[in-house]
Amino acid sequence: MLERIITKIKSLIHGFGLDHFPWEVMFFSIIITSYVLMIEVKFVGWEKSSLKKIIKFDKSTRSDFICWVMDTFNISNVFGFVLSFGVFYFLVGLIQKNFGLNLITHIANPYLQAAIIFIAGDFKNYVRHYAFHKSKILWELHQFHHSATHFNVLTRQRVHFLDPEISRFFDVMVFVLLGSPIYSYIAVRIFKEAHQLIIHSALTSDWGFIGKYILVSPAAHRLHHSTEERHYNKNMGNTFIFWDRLFGTYHPAEPIKNIGLPENKFNKDGYFKDLWKCIIGATNILFHRNKMNILKKENK
Ligand SMILES: [Zn+2]
Ligand SMILES: [Zn+2]
Repeated sequence: MLERIITKIKSLIHGFGLDHFPWEVMFFSIIITSYVLMIEVKFVGWEKSSLKKIIKFDKSTRSDFICWVMDTFNISNVFGFVLSFGVFYFLVGLIQKNFGLNLITHIANPYLQAAIIFIAGDFKNYVRHYAFHKSKILWELHQFHHSATHFNVLTRQRVHFLDPEISRFFDVMVFVLLGSPIYSYIAVRIFKEAHQLIIHSALTSDWGFIGKYILVSPAAHRLHHSTEERHYNKNMGNTFIFWDRLFGTYHPAEPIKNIGLPENKFNKDGYFKDLWKCIIGATNILFHRNKMNILKKENK
């Protein structure tokens, strides 16, 4: 009986041409998000929980939820690909095909390989995050993530769909230098994802010594989203906080007043208009810069 149902589902999937849909990514996201949501309720109680915020469904949470659906069902990837005309995908593919030092093959131990690629990948994420804060054009896109006015677990997925497209250039660097490990460990993937969800949750713990020197704690990432000027561009690490210590962007965790942007133009006109505002902002800066360069050349 069960076998017949599975065969029926499989033929339906095939019939709709959904064989290539990343089902494992979808189930991974649903399971891990549900699990973190439940753990959070246990630690902070129902009143402060993300689940309560999701049910309340205010404008900021609404965008978080749409982003989560878009990401989980792979819609944002399709969006990013189509709206960037596949340019980033194509260029990164070219780099990947033609360059590759594969340095990781010099290390025989598969555990050591995985550890090195994990740490190198996290450093790449620090550099990428730094670039998205320091470049005016990239900040126009990244500010969408910072426009959430309060944290709930789903804020983790609140990312402009062009963000991962541009991030491909950073991702490919690690691949070009090191290559990929022989094995990738599911435990590492679960840890990384759960950690990202937790640091966007209602938890406010600084994790003591670990939060000071090793991992980005919920309190440290909360500070990264603070509206106070002295907290801008601080704690930009993804998994590890020691990058911030090494490069002078560390700020000790402390209670913060508000989360979001000081002048927040988002969460008023709906999800799609908010994404559009980012694109307009980025193109305005790009064209203004080009115009300035032309004027400079004419004046020479
Ligand atoms: Zn940021
Ligand atoms: Zn964040």
